[in-house]
Amino acid sequence: MSAPQFTVTRNPAPASPQRRAEVLANPGFGRYFTDHMVTVGWTEGSGWQDPQVVPYGPLSLDPATMLLHYGQEIFEGLKAYRQADGSIATFRPDANAARFAGSARRMAMAELPEDLFLASLSELLAVDSEWVPAAGGEDSLYLRPFMIATEVGLGVRPSAEYLYSVIASPAGPYFADGVAPMDVWLETEYTRAAMGGTGTAKCGGNYAASLLPQSVGAQHGCAQVAYLDAEERTWIDEMGANNLFFVFRDAAGAVELATPDLRGSVLAGITRDSLLTVARDLGITVTERRISGQEWLGGAASGVLTEVFGCGTAAVITPIGTVKHTGGEVTIGDGRPGPVTLQLREALTAMQRGSAPDPHGWMHTMVPAPATV
Ligand SMILES: *Cc1c(COP(=O)(O)O)cnc(C)c1O
Repeated sequence: MSAPQFTVTRNPAPASPQRRAEVLANPGFGRYFTDHMVTVGWTEGSGWQDPQVVPYGPLSLDPATMLLHYGQEIFEGLKAYRQADGSIATFRPDANAARFAGSARRMAMAELPEDLFLASLSELLAVDSEWVPAAGGEDSLYLRPFMIATEVGLGVRPSAEYLYSVIASPAGPYFADGVAPMDVWLETEYTRAAMGGTGTAKCGGNYAASLLPQSVGAQHGCAQVAYLDAEERTWIDEMGANNLFFVFRDAAGAVELATPDLRGSVLAGITRDSLLTVARDLGITVTERRISGQEWLGGAASGVLTEVFGCGTAAVITPIGTVKHTGGEVTIGDGRPGPVTLQLREALTAMQRGSAPDPHGWMHTMVPAPATV
């Protein structure tokens, strides 16, 4: 397939350079959006058509749009980083493209070709390049590709029309004051996903289902929720938007970095996959296996479990200090971020900033360095 041709319509009233600088000085997460967005339509029969970069703005939807009733929606999340030479790069965007197609398959939606996904990111970044923060830190431009069912009608079947879009939002460093641990609620009543369900698809519906348990966790002072498997309520699945890693240290000091294997309900995080590789590169023993809730609580209590962390694109790695549950709470190690957690976080973020070698070819240049005059 030849490179898709995008039509670009410039925003006639973009943010002023002063306004943009104000936003970039303190972007937070997901609060501000750039001047443009991508739209590509799909209809049964005609396929993907009319790829565009247009001014950022509201979508107009008929109240009977299928999305609003039956929830066919999927998304992705990845970050664009300014590199030291001024170019703009993303981390493993081909993996996001492949996962997006997989999510579409599970939700009976049209699959976006990988080259169109990648082109949509580079086209938007080229037009909104000024919104990508300066190199050197953990600031980035967060990209949110998503797709919705746009056919109008209440018949229950896959939509015959879709809209694919990409919006972009500047993101500050997740830990403004240094990497800090969070408390996590180990949920035993609600589950996130079941075998055969939609847990392996990145769909909005999974997030909707996680909001009630999330607020239960928040009532216990926890920032995130860890779920058990739906069948046995025994095995650790993952958190609402983060995969989980566990560091075990035996009496002889041997370290095992373990993460739940990708059985039927765990979302295959790209950060998870990358950390498995980076850890192996660093000579750490890694295993993908079943880990029970009891192994977590018991290991933390006995001291063989020395570190636990969550991982995902937004925060890369978030250490977990204390795990709380209906029966009490256990602090992991001394409750502070552990050495394996910090070593892995530094290794991966250095690669993303472009300050460490990239032996696996994970960084993709999306916008070349500006020509020097
Ligand atoms: C997106 C997501 C993750 C993290 O995936 P990354 O590719 O590492 O960002 C983990 N769990 C769920 C449920 C997710 O939706």
